[in-house]
Amino acid sequence: MTTKKRVVVLGAGVTGLSAAYRLSQNPDTEVHVFEKESEVGGLCRSFREDGFILDYGPHKFYTLIEGVLEEMCQLMGDDFLVREKSQNLFLNGKYFDFPLKMTEMLTKFPPQKSLEILASFGLSAAKNFKNKVDPKSYEDFIIQRFGKSLYQQIFEPMANKMFGNPSQLDPHLAEVRISSPGLVSVMKQLLSRKKIDKTISAPNFHYPKYGFGMIPEKLKQKSEANGVKFHLGVKVKELKLQNGKVSGVSFEDKSGMVQNISCDDVVYTIPMQAIAELIPQLAADVRQACRFVSFRHTIIYYYLLKSQPVLPAMWVFYPESRFRFGRLSEMTKFSPYTAPLGHTALMVDFTCDDLDPTWSMDDSHLGDLLLDQLKPLKLFNKDQIVKNFSKRFRNFYPVYRIGYQERIAKIRSLEKEFNNIYFVGRLGDFNYNNSDQCFDMGFKAAEHIQTNGHVGERWGELRNERFDKYRIVD
Ligand SMILES: Cc1cc2nc3c(=O)[nH]c(=O)nc-3n(C[C@H](O)[C@H](O)[C@H](O)COP(=O)(O)OP(=O)(O)OC[C@H]3O[C@@H](n4cnc5c(N)ncnc54)[C@H](O)[C@@H]3O)c2cc1C
Repeated sequence: MTTKKRVVVLGAGVTGLSAAYRLSQNPDTEVHVFEKESEVGGLCRSFREDGFILDYGPHKFYTLIEGVLEEMCQLMGDDFLVREKSQNLFLNGKYFDFPLKMTEMLTKFPPQKSLEILASFGLSAAKNFKNKVDPKSYEDFIIQRFGKSLYQQIFEPMANKMFGNPSQLDPHLAEVRISSPGLVSVMKQLLSRKKIDKTISAPNFHYPKYGFGMIPEKLKQKSEANGVKFHLGVKVKELKLQNGKVSGVSFEDKSGMVQNISCDDVVYTIPMQAIAELIPQLAADVRQACRFVSFRHTIIYYYLLKSQPVLPAMWVFYPESRFRFGRLSEMTKFSPYTAPLGHTALMVDFTCDDLDPTWSMDDSHLGDLLLDQLKPLKLFNKDQIVKNFSKRFRNFYPVYRIGYQERIAKIRSLEKEFNNIYFVGRLGDFNYNNSDQCFDMGFKAAEHIQTNGHVGERWGELRNERFDKYRIVD
């Protein structure tokens, strides 16, 4: 009789689920998934409220990674709608197409501003051409590519809202978040909308008929059918070490009882820095690196409305500082099946840290504050609101602070040290990525475990060549 390999997956977001699903396709592997919430999906979940289906912020499914779309289409079948994307930017009281088009900038911006933008764009391009210096921060990166004027008007206030002070952020964040392969492409993108570069902006995307959460639900169903054991509502307390490897997981079940399970491999998708709490005997330098790693929190505020759709696009970015939020989006534009007839749902999303007053503000005060800021946009009246409330998530936006890369490398070095733990996913690998990249990481971790049996050199190569090169496409 052959003994099965036992793999423990920490976290049932889409990264953990895709790893579990792929592992479960091999009958010689026993898979256990541990999740602290009572349901799977992490940030890719949907929930129901008064007849509405709501996501945790706007989620489109778009990928440039070979094989991932095919796999998802197979999983979702007829429930995967193809949607034509629309996104806007709101500035100086006007809506712009996004990515910005030069013609619109010239006609809709005040003439003096347009000239300023063009002049500073040209100046940066000339400087760059003559003497290209490596950018030291997010701020440097953007100014080099777009000029100071556009940086100050759009990118700086937007970055402040989403990620924190851009002069203290690593330029890698801009590489990931603002796909800009070079000046020629930027100019093409600015001058024409006919030829949209699919690596910069998605022309269309896939979306599940009844909310993004259908994807994790389907992954769970298929995995369960293949024998994966889900431990939901369970808190992982400790990773046990033996003979230099992670030999087991200790967890507290729903009744408060502490239990242990042994394992051959661990797929780690929960917040990376939590490893310091889970392995008490970690070296001091790794603990120090864990303390440096930080995430920003996400707040999504929902207005359920008795109204026809209210936004001019699926989502709109609001860089100006008079708006606390960075983006508004509308569920019914993603799928009309997500609201009762004659209704729509607006989502207001932004990030913050512990010290931000909005993080601890109660729902009704926060709702009033946002409503005041929404008023000049004239999207809806107060008497159209059926319900309003927020959902808040701790630690979801990795902060790529200057200096983070060496700290992450230090924590990642545990993979090689223990040779049977894999850091993957947005939180697990501290990788500012989208769900398609999470599926890819989960699948790749599973395949690696099954073909190699240990971390080894190949895993490091995969990380450098593939995971670290992911870019977000709006
Ligand atoms: C506002 C917003 C908009 C987005 N838009 C898009 C989009 O349009 N398209 C797209 O593809 N992606 C989008 N994303 C990104 C996408 O949501 C993430 O990439 C993806 O959800 C990350 O999945 P994950 O499994 O790595 O992490 P998570 O979803 O965070 O999963 C981690 C899981 O681990 C669990 N966990 C944490 N700690 C423990 C513990 N100690 N023990 C057990 N379990 C634990 C958590 O509860 C969670 O379920 C967006 C994200 C946000 C915030």
